[in-house]
Amino acid sequence: MTVSPTLVWFRLDLRLSDNPALHAAAGRGGPVAALFVLDDEDAGDWSFGGAQRWWLHGSLAALAEALAKKGVALVLRRGRAAEIVPAVARESGAGAVYWNRCYEPWRVARDRQLKQALADEGLETESFNAALLHEPWTVKTGQGGPYGVYSPFWRALQQREVAPPWPTPGAMTGVEGLESDALEDWQLLPTRPDWAGGLRETWTPGEAAAQGRLGAFLQHAIEDYGEERNRPDLESTSRLSPHLHFGEIGPRQVWAATQDFLERQGGQPGKAGKSAWKFLSELAWREFSYHLLYHHPALPEQPWRENFRAFPWSDDEAAFRAWTKGRTGYPIVDAGMRQLWQTGWLHNRVRMVVGSFLVKDLLIPWQRGEAWFWDTLVDADLANNAASWQWVSGCGADAAPYFRIFNPVLQGEKFDPEGTYVRHWVPELAGLPDRWLHKPWEAPAEVLQDAGVRLGDSYPEPLVDHQRARQKALAAFEEIKKDAAE
Ligand SMILES: Cc1cc2nc3c(=O)[nH]c(=O)nc-3n(C[C@H](O)[C@H](O)[C@H](O)COP(=O)(O)OP(=O)(O)OC[C@H]3O[C@@H](n4cnc5c(N)ncnc54)[C@H](O)[C@@H]3O)c2cc1C
Repeated sequence: MTVSPTLVWFRLDLRLSDNPALHAAAGRGGPVAALFVLDDEDAGDWSFGGAQRWWLHGSLAALAEALAKKGVALVLRRGRAAEIVPAVARESGAGAVYWNRCYEPWRVARDRQLKQALADEGLETESFNAALLHEPWTVKTGQGGPYGVYSPFWRALQQREVAPPWPTPGAMTGVEGLESDALEDWQLLPTRPDWAGGLRETWTPGEAAAQGRLGAFLQHAIEDYGEERNRPDLESTSRLSPHLHFGEIGPRQVWAATQDFLERQGGQPGKAGKSAWKFLSELAWREFSYHLLYHHPALPEQPWRENFRAFPWSDDEAAFRAWTKGRTGYPIVDAGMRQLWQTGWLHNRVRMVVGSFLVKDLLIPWQRGEAWFWDTLVDADLANNAASWQWVSGCGADAAPYFRIFNPVLQGEKFDPEGTYVRHWVPELAGLPDRWLHKPWEAPAEVLQDAGVRLGDSYPEPLVDHQRARQKALAAFEEIKKDAAE
């Protein structure tokens, strides 16, 4: 008996290994068709941002090449998935449509309807988990509800077995003659102006690069991760976030490789072992963000703590623009914002510092920072971005308390102690001695002169006085606390 073709609809799972939908399609026995839909209309406000588009181009090119080696052509189409997926299923004569699940509220709603529509056409449909260690609805508190606090969530995760990754399928039979858009025609890469030079220098999208990055991290950096992960001046973290976001590598693969590393340590709870568990606990923050988003679909738009809806935000547009351009006059903030613009990525510690500065020093709504990150980060991820901005702002589940306001000078001195990070991204301050680097406005005039720094000219004066801004933020917070109590 001949088996009908299976259509695999790729989304945020742009890999061949540990891809359960592709694995099941190959196992079903018939030919395999592969589809990616650029579904901007479905996504609305959350369609891919600029930096993500740059990444997507490279990732799709890599996926197409890897699939072609297995005998399958990647079909690219643009428009509404509810129309395109059934159409390509018909064109390929598919009897089954498989995909891996996504958790963005707009995708969840759309996919549910699409599944029903395909089933109504008599097609077999199945969706799989490729993006998470555990499905958000399977991890439950003792009372049977979702978690709102990270620590017990992480404890619960550690009690559970993580399924091993799926193997990469061997050669498959493709479906001939399906029409595809040309990737270049989607114009995902910027042209005029071409702002992607720093991204090209920093990153290589695709599954092979993701595996390479994980391998290099396990070999060179994981042992010191526990101690050094907060240092933006060191290459101390994995930088797997964009690869994880686009599903070029799955968390089960990261988990399994880290467990192998732990086994090689011979079960010793030494520094390397502790570091490896710390790394897994950070991966668990990603799971936690997805857990929160799945159970609270308004997370990207609405504060988790409702009293924050009444927060007296400022709408200082000039201050917002200065923040985006890395011209606040606070060196660690400016270094971070420039790193973000040039490379599409930002170290976690500095994400917290720049986030706190926007929301608490400038009193600008966290949603504006979230939107800026959405456009500029290569790893912009609805769950992680929303949950983290809410965490920084003090309005999220298990968030940093609002009154914990990062001092950008102390953060700089502590986490960039030799000033390497600031000197790299804010070269106009490079000549300042360490003592003044994170607070140039306190430096004596002759020190500034020797370093060639002209405050208010070659480098901005501080946009706000941090101590005064802090008092203002705390007073604003008292307002909403009062409202909540009334
Ligand atoms: C304001 C703000 C916005 C953020 N926006 C995003 C975003 O859009 N996309 C994104 O992937 N991360 C986001 N993060 C979380 C975190 O900063 C990045 O995941 C991390 O810096 C990525 O670097 P890495 O891969 O080297 O991390 P590593 O330290 O090597 O960690 C490994 C992986 O664990 C996950 N992870 C680590 N820390 C966190 C965290 N705090 N929260 C959730 N997951 C985490 C990531 O998938 C990461 O790739 C944000 C954090 C803040 C404070």
